[in-house]
Amino acid sequence: MAPRQPPVTLAPRDTAAHLAEVLRGHDDPLRIVFDHVQDVVYLIEHDDGDYRFVAVNPAFLHATGLAAQDVVGRPVDEVIPPPSIELVRRHYADAIARRAPVHWEEVTPFPSGLRYGEVMVAPVLDDDGRCTHLVGTVHDVTEHRVAQQALDRLANYDPLTGLPNRVRFRELLAAEAAGVVEHGKPCALLYLDLDGFKTINDALGHSLGDALLQQVGERLRAQARPGDILGRLGGDEFGLVAAVAAPPGDARTLAETMLELLRAPFQVDGHEIRVTPSIGIATCPEDSCDAEDLVRFADAAMYAAKAAGRNRLAFYSCEMDQQAQHRRELEHALREAVERREFVVHYQPSVELRSGRIAGFEALLRWNRPDVGLVSPAEFMPVLEDTGLIRDVGDWVIETVVRQLAEWEAAGHTGLHVAINVSAVQLLPAPPRAGSTDATHTLLEHVRDCLARYPLRTGWIELEVTESVLMTDPEFARATLERLRTVAGRIHVDDFGTGYSSLAYLTRLPIDSLKIDRVFVQDLPDDVEDASIVRAVIGLAHSLGLDVIAEGIETAAQRRFLIEAGCDHGQGYLFARPVPAGDVPALLRAGRAGVDA
Ligand code: C2E
Ligand code: MG
Ligand code: MG
Repeated sequence: MAPRQPPVTLAPRDTAAHLAEVLRGHDDPLRIVFDHVQDVVYLIEHDDGDYRFVAVNPAFLHATGLAAQDVVGRPVDEVIPPPSIELVRRHYADAIARRAPVHWEEVTPFPSGLRYGEVMVAPVLDDDGRCTHLVGTVHDVTEHRVAQQALDRLANYDPLTGLPNRVRFRELLAAEAAGVVEHGKPCALLYLDLDGFKTINDALGHSLGDALLQQVGERLRAQARPGDILGRLGGDEFGLVAAVAAPPGDARTLAETMLELLRAPFQVDGHEIRVTPSIGIATCPEDSCDAEDLVRFADAAMYAAKAAGRNRLAFYSCEMDQQAQHRRELEHALREAVERREFVVHYQPSVELRSGRIAGFEALLRWNRPDVGLVSPAEFMPVLEDTGLIRDVGDWVIETVVRQLAEWEAAGHTGLHVAINVSAVQLLPAPPRAGSTDATHTLLEHVRDCLARYPLRTGWIELEVTESVLMTDPEFARATLERLRTVAGRIHVDDFGTGYSSLAYLTRLPIDSLKIDRVFVQDLPDDVEDASIVRAVIGLAHSLGLDVIAEGIETAAQRRFLIEAGCDHGQGYLFARPVPAGDVPALLRAGRAGVDA
């Protein structure tokens, strides 16, 4: 090899004079290019399948870390390591055979990591058209590839859990479904949504919410079998696609395993959190072989699982798709209803069971839906809660009730109290509104604010919370209720018996009464099991110093049974249905409702 020329520095001045200056003293201008180009450049001598390096540029030596004497004059097999040489030789042969340059991309492991290079090899032909040499170049595209891979990860994977995101999951599902069509081996899509995650996220803050989601993702991943596709489809939604030899039995077993998997509490930053999933299942090919359909169907089934009481699984059926459609329409209509304030509050008296004397009222929300009429909250409350709209509507209910109480008080009805239902979502501090950092508005502040605007001298409000609220995060519930009781007179536990309160735990809560759920009252006095449950609850409540209210009393026989069992108060159609505010004064003047003492 010719001795190296002194290196020259190419300054970014593109005048001819500058170039002339640079080239002065260099007899071989091409040499300058060879020495200074950033790409790897080499020349190989070819003789009947033998390849030998003739010249390599400094970029080559820099990239490989080799010295010129280790390369120049040596066969390529001694320089290029064995895993690559086979491929390289094939490309050389190809270029020679085609009499044309060939291109490929090469990934080379270096101690500092993988390097990606775009390689080009061009044959050099003599006058007879024989290939005597090969010129090779390698353009390093590592940065570009790494950036591309990062983009790819961002576009296809969820950064929090590392699982495929919704887009990628759908692609994988579509491929799986296509495979089912081809090979006939069925698979199932399980769509998992965490129950009440929004509530937990708002209560604990988003970073703990994220940590919880990560742990959920880890548990699911640990359980997944090779070949399963697991993805995060949205906030608290996960999807699993798995081959099932015998659907629906296998799919059910899989879903039951998932339910079991999430049963143990999660430890998140010192909090012990319990979270249950609702799982919807769609099977391929039975339900559909189209990825879009499968996701929609499994989603509809998941909603059905929620509606059936959460923490369970449901298989897709055609009616569910209609129900899901209905739900979307309902959500849309409710958003409009909130804007247009299409709600009213009705009042149902609670009475002293023995005397029938009106003891107080419960405020019950109604939606005055245009063209439909009054709609019960049973139909729309789940949507208000899931969408968070209940905060707005709930605030409005509280304000309406307090203002109403003040009006009744001014009209001479003293000592009145009205119980207001509050959902779990309302008990939590509201997330800060977009674009604002103000102190978050809480239920406590709102109640205080309403009572300041409409002061009550003798009347008061009470709050009804359901058991499930108390059990999700018991410590949080206790602290919140304690503060709320300083502004609201009394706290009732609503629908008692339908959740799974730990009785020992109840003793530590700042509550005043239990409302026995209607399901235990409706078959009284004949249903022996219900009769004993009701007696036990009354006994328990009294031993804890709590008042008991029985809901849904419709018959005189139910009332008699409850009086004998020692129940203090009751509510139900036997005494009065919920009535508009305008009908309350007449009830109050009568002083008692429905029955004679
Ligand atoms: P809840 O608090 O357990 O209310 C009792 C429900 O039983 C009311 O249904 C009431 O109309 C009904 N009811 C009363 N007596 C009888 C009876 O003798 N027989 C029968 N079959 N039913 C009776 P409603 O008004 O449809 O409310 C349903 C649920 O919606 C309530 O259950 C409560 O959990 C929720 N809710 C109602 N208003 C509000 C509200 O303003 N905010 C919140 N967060 N939830 C509310
Ligand atoms: Mg209630
Ligand atoms: Mg109730």
